[in-house]
Formats: sequence, structure tokens, C-alpha cells
Amino acid sequence: MSLKNYCFDGSQKLSLHKLPHDSKKDNVNKETILAKTAKNEQEISLLQDKLYADGKEGLLIVLQAMDAAGKDSTVKHVMTGVNPQGIDVYSFKQPSKEEMSHDFLWRVNKALPARGKIGLLNRSYYEDVLVVKVHNLYKTYNMAERCLEDKAFFEKRYRHISNYEEYLYDSSYRIVKIFLNVSKDAQKKRFLERINDKEKNWKFSSSDLSERALWDDYQEAYEDAINSTASKHAPWYVLPADQKWYTRYLVSEAILKTLKEIDPQYPKLPDEQAALLQKSKEALDKE
Ligand code: ATP
Ligand code: MG
Repeated sequence: MSLKNYCFDGSQKLSLHKLPHDSKKDNVNKETILAKTAKNEQEISLLQDKLYADGKEGLLIVLQAMDAAGKDSTVKHVMTGVNPQGIDVYSFKQPSKEEMSHDFLWRVNKALPARGKIGLLNRSYYEDVLVVKVHNLYKTYNMAERCLEDKAFFEKRYRHISNYEEYLYDSSYRIVKIFLNVSKDAQKKRFLERINDKEKNWKFSSSDLSERALWDDYQEAYEDAINSTASKHAPWYVLPADQKWYTRYLVSEAILKTLKEIDPQYPKLPDEQAALLQKSKEALDKE
């Protein structure tokens, strides 16, 4: 299976339970995949340099997952070889009081990268149709009743998100949305590792278990959100996440594909400036 089979751009419907959590079906060789990942990372690094110099398009990477699916290590890997000046990472936590007193996309706009940069959202505005849906958090919001009693509350949010992503695309951004599709068994294993290993204790929080208990609700919320917001200009990649080496490869493939589509170019100097450059060279040569 290639990246294409994990890509949801509105042309095929996602049934989450049908997608694999590991590489078994893809019948790949780990050594080959590791080598390909390293090569992809080099290419990403070169293209990111061009993206920055060009400054014409921005790349927004949205990273969503259940706890312990490997978001943090994916962030680390995406950063490999990338000039830190060209990337902004932003983690979406529970909204602050100030954020809560604004519309849900308010904080997203503040976190957007400038064109020429890569913006990596560790969790995102999708939390507003995931955790907020699973826990019905919106019912406690200080908002007009017409908004809260609306049966189509989440349908409308999906639409607002789709419109927002189209707006970003039309504003010269590309969007890659990644869902790290970890299995319930692998999550359990990783939670136990976090509990058993003292150096990993800090990564575990008791709320992780209460969220795990709502696994099926989250899977349904993810499926709905992905199917309602998958589009050609803002595709979702639903990637197997039980084997980190394979996830990293697929993440690198998705990012590389998008950077190649952007096809950034180093700016070409106008003739006047090129002539000036030549003069400077001659002056230096004469010294
Ligand atoms: P880790 O994997 O290290 O635990 P994390 O992304 O889960 O990283 P946490 O600080 O544990 O980070 O959790 C952030 C929490 O904030 C998540 O439970 C997430 O669902 C919640 N959150 C994010 N956005 C919103 C939102 N709009 N409304 C309510 N909760 C939100
Ligand atoms: Mg957490």
C-alpha cells in the first residue's frame, strides 16, 4: 500500500476500522524503509530551504491523534534536518480564559506560520470537533442560546473548518492533515511503559485513562471529522501508528509530496542586482 491508500481528499470515504495500524499488509522491509526515510528527510531539508527563500507559500501541518500515538516523536522527526528558523511548532492545549472568550478559530490564526515557513500544529482546531464533541463541552460555553441549541452545531463547525481551510489555501498556504492511527492495544502498551519507566512517568496523566475509556466515541468523532473535512486542498492522511519507524516514513512521504507540489524556487535576482553582484565580485577579486 502506498501513501495514496492512506490519503483522504474527499474522493473516498473513510471507515476507520478498515485501516491498518501497522505495516503488515504493506509487506515492507524495515531496513529499506529506514533508508527511504533518511533520504526523504534530506530532500525535505533542501526543499524547506527553498520554501523559506521563496516565501511564496506556507505549509501548515496539522497533527492529530489519541494519546501516546506518537505526536511528540513525530514532531521531533519532522524537525530533523530542518532549519529551526523556518518552522513554528504550536501545541494546542485546553483553551485559556482569553481564548474561550473568542471564536474557536481565533487562536488558530495567531498560530499560523508566515508564508515561507512550515507551521506544525500539535493538536489543532480539530479538538473543537473532537474532545468538545465527545464530552459535549460546548454546552457549557458562554454563548448565545441560538448557537448552543443548534442541533447542527458540529455540522456547522465542519463547514466552518472546511471554509477556513479553503480560505488558507486561497491565501497561499498548503495544508497537510495527519491522523496517527494507533491501535487500542498499542496505546495500552505505551501507557504501561510510561508507568513502568521512571523517566517516562511525566508523560502519563490519569486523565489519559478516562479518555481511553471513551475510545469508541473518539474513533467515531475522528471518522466524522475526517469525512466532513477531507478535500483536495486540505487532505487527511490516516497513517498506521503502531510502528514508529513506519509512521515516520509515511509522514515524511506526505510532507515531501506537498513540498514538491509547492515546488519552491530560489528567487532569481533582477538583472540590475545581478550586475551589481558582478561588480562586487570584480572589486573583491582586485583586492
Ligand atoms: P501528550 O501526548 O504529551 O499527553 P497532549 O497533546 O495530549 O500531549 P496534554 O497537555 O496532555 O497534551 O493535553 C492537551 C489537552 O488539551 C488534550 O486533552 C486536548 O484534548 C485538550 N484540548 C485541546 N484543545 C481543546 C479544546 N478546544 N477544548 C477542550 N480541550 C482541548
Ligand atoms: Mg495528553
